[in-house]
Amino acid sequence: MNNLDRLLQRNKEFAVQQAAADALMPSLLRAMPEVKAIIIGCADMRADPAHVLGTKPGEAVVLRNIGGRVTPGLLEQLGLLGRIGQVAGEVPGGGGEFHIIVLQHTDCGIARLSGDRSMLAHYFQIQEGELKTKAVADPRAAVAVDVAALRAIPALPGTWLISGLVYDVASGLVEVVVPPAPIRTA
Ligand SMILES: [Zn+2]
Repeated sequence: MNNLDRLLQRNKEFAVQQAAADALMPSLLRAMPEVKAIIIGCADMRADPAHVLGTKPGEAVVLRNIGGRVTPGLLEQLGLLGRIGQVAGEVPGGGGEFHIIVLQHTDCGIARLSGDRSMLAHYFQIQEGELKTKAVADPRAAVAVDVAALRAIPALPGTWLISGLVYDVASGLVEVVVPPAPIRTA
């Protein structure tokens, strides 16, 4: 059995569980899952929000990149996401609580790119001299930097909550570095 076979086998089991869940809850209710959160996380295979935070299908949109960082590419995806919501006639956060969560982690591979200054500068679309402001070797500082960057984006609704978490890959625990608060205070 190769890797894909194993994954496809798990998918069959997943589909059976989904069918069982549908039998319990009318599928009509599940057809329009209410998005409650956008999680910005690292692509690291140990840091999947579905495992670390136990997110279930329909609970969160997850955008993952190297480091779980706020980059121009990530912001472009956030913009597209907002546009998709508008086209679908759903305004995310229009009703109820909506939350943006920045989830980074210890022992992140991005720290090992510290020597590749031109590559990192290109990733963040900044000058090499500004790299220090991105704190790539310190996840707690980096989470704070990225939450601040998101707060500075006028297009994000000020009433949305935003928070910053660091997942400790050694202990398995998540630390709340930036407690949840509205993106902007009125
Ligand atoms: Zn990482």
